[in-house]
Amino acid sequence: MYINGAWVETDQRFTVTNPANGEAIGEVANAGPEHIEGAIAAAHDAFASWRKTTAYERSALLYRAWQLMLEQKQELAELMTKEQGKPLKASLNEVQYGADFLLWFAEEAKRLYGHSIPSARADQRFWVQKQPVGVVGAITPWNYPISMITRKVGPALAAGCTVVLKPAESTPLCAMAMFRIFEQAGFPKGVLNLLTTEDPRPVGNAFCDDPRVRKITFTGSTAVGKLLNERAGRHIKRVSMELGGHAPALVFADADPVHAAKGLSLVKFLNTGQACISPNRILVQREVMAPFLKELGKRIAAMKAGNGMDPDTRIGPLINEAAISKVDNQVKDALSKGASLLGGGERLLTPELAGGHFYAPTLLADVSPEMLIYREETFGPVAAVVPFDTEEEALAMANDTHYGLAAYVYTENLSRAMRVFEGLDFGIIGINDINPTSAAAPFGGMKESGLGREGAQAGIEEYLETKLGGIAVAGG
Ligand code: ADP
Repeated sequence: MYINGAWVETDQRFTVTNPANGEAIGEVANAGPEHIEGAIAAAHDAFASWRKTTAYERSALLYRAWQLMLEQKQELAELMTKEQGKPLKASLNEVQYGADFLLWFAEEAKRLYGHSIPSARADQRFWVQKQPVGVVGAITPWNYPISMITRKVGPALAAGCTVVLKPAESTPLCAMAMFRIFEQAGFPKGVLNLLTTEDPRPVGNAFCDDPRVRKITFTGSTAVGKLLNERAGRHIKRVSMELGGHAPALVFADADPVHAAKGLSLVKFLNTGQACISPNRILVQREVMAPFLKELGKRIAAMKAGNGMDPDTRIGPLINEAAISKVDNQVKDALSKGASLLGGGERLLTPELAGGHFYAPTLLADVSPEMLIYREETFGPVAAVVPFDTEEEALAMANDTHYGLAAYVYTENLSRAMRVFEGLDFGIIGINDINPTSAAAPFGGMKESGLGREGAQAGIEEYLETKLGGIAVAGG
């Protein structure tokens, strides 16, 4: 752990394993109550001076951290592949994406503009100034173990907030590597603190209950987001939540089904399906169903599962046994209710894969609303294809979920693209595009997928208070 500018060890430690083969790859300190208290106290004390630094000083430190990340890109990516399982190329992409947030917010720090407002009174002036919220409690997930840290820490620091970060218990090593970078970059002590723990609850509870923590930023499941939001609500604490998703992908008959199948095979199986923006239901207009399934099936059959360090690997392991059971349960449920299996559908237990958590890339057709996979987030390598006939029907099916994060549309008809874009209740929509994300673009969901936005200009607003000044000007 990293508390008040020093690395802290504990006798009580927990083991981190490689999900591709079950090997132990590290032992990590387990936070006790005294560490939680120490980290919050350090962030609180450091805030008094950090908030007074100039935007230019904060920007320079973020810029330095960005440079260090790029210099250490290969090492960070290799660590990520070992700890999280994704193929090395995907890890390299993630480190780049993660670094992008540091650069973006190094720049945004200098643009925390206020404004003035005309008053109805001749002797009055109004102005609005932005100020940092205070100590931020950040909780991050294991699926994007580096970029989810920089997407929160970057704007928090740029705004002038201090941070206590709790990474996921499966990926603390990536978080530690990022904190070594922040340490090397030269952030003052107490500005950034890291709590590693096997049991997230005491840290989450402290973030909610401790009045010194002014803001909670969380990325993870909707279930945990609700718990944190409810508890933080007791103290009217500010929250940002980036939660689960159930992305629909709509393939219209006016689009090229082969091109659509290619795109969706890439985004569906990215990170072995373990992404909140992963297409969970692929809705295909009946006229193009046959060529679409043919192409998708061919691509899925060619995907090689294995250790992410092997350059041929397209599909890494799932994070743990619970993930395997969840995916397998959804597949079995769908098959028992009439879905057709066009590939995969089972755990991979060949000798070289049996030590890890591998599930075959799977294609299910004829998926329908009564199946679990139609409603529950899968977080695994299963493409679930649902037929539709009309645009109206497709839109109604797409919106028939309590999630609202990402959606994808394939169409060559401009008017349809606009109608569907406007009709979808989702925060991020890719139109003939499978990667509608960037540090410069606002990321976040509607409905139970979250609150607030990350990245972009909007991302820093989450860490700022808006303060109004009204001044009576004698003789004005
Ligand atoms: P996932 O299903 O992606 O593992 P979780 O919501 O369980 O999603 O985990 C995301 C993050 O939330 C992790 O850092 C995890 O440790 C943390 N977390 C899980 N349960 C709690 C809790 N009760 N309080 C605070 N943090 C939690």
